[in-house]
Amino acid sequence: MSVECIQPWLAHRPRRGATVVDTVVLHATCNDDLTEKITELKDRGLSYHYMIDRFGVPHKCVPYSAVAFHAGNSYGPHEAARGTSKDQDSHHNFVEMTSVNEYSLGICVVNCNDPSDPCTSEQEDSCIWLLKELKVSLPSLKYLTAHYWVSPGRASDPANLDVVRIAAKTGLEIWKPA
Ligand SMILES: [Zn+2]
Repeated sequence: MSVECIQPWLAHRPRRGATVVDTVVLHATCNDDLTEKITELKDRGLSYHYMIDRFGVPHKCVPYSAVAFHAGNSYGPHEAARGTSKDQDSHHNFVEMTSVNEYSLGICVVNCNDPSDPCTSEQEDSCIWLLKELKVSLPSLKYLTAHYWVSPGRASDPANLDVVRIAAKTGLEIWKPA
């Protein structure tokens, strides 16, 4: 499978030196158009490492050596391991202002995120292929999670991806809140 590269890269910053990147967060665009979503991401200074279009073609948007701005306020395996407070405010933001972005990759499928719009088998196959490729480049990858698990109450994507099945097919471990 070939990967398209979006140039220039979307918004990103360097990772801190000692960061172990061990987590992948899956997302959906919550719209049906890749180009439109990219314009929105540029306007808002947000990004994913990869976006998978309707035909299953992966588009690389940020190098995995850099932090992409995909999950925002969130709580994942590193916060859980440190015993960081899980308290959320009335807007479902974690009061400790934690984010998984530092130690994760973000992969996003083009999908409306409603029940009338199932993801295509090409998208799921592409996601599995990409994760297997990434595991070769980044052997530290261990956890697969979803935006709705790391930002509960605030994010509902990717509602139409079978994250558990994708984890089983890639040898990644599902991370979700206890
Ligand atoms: Zn998301």
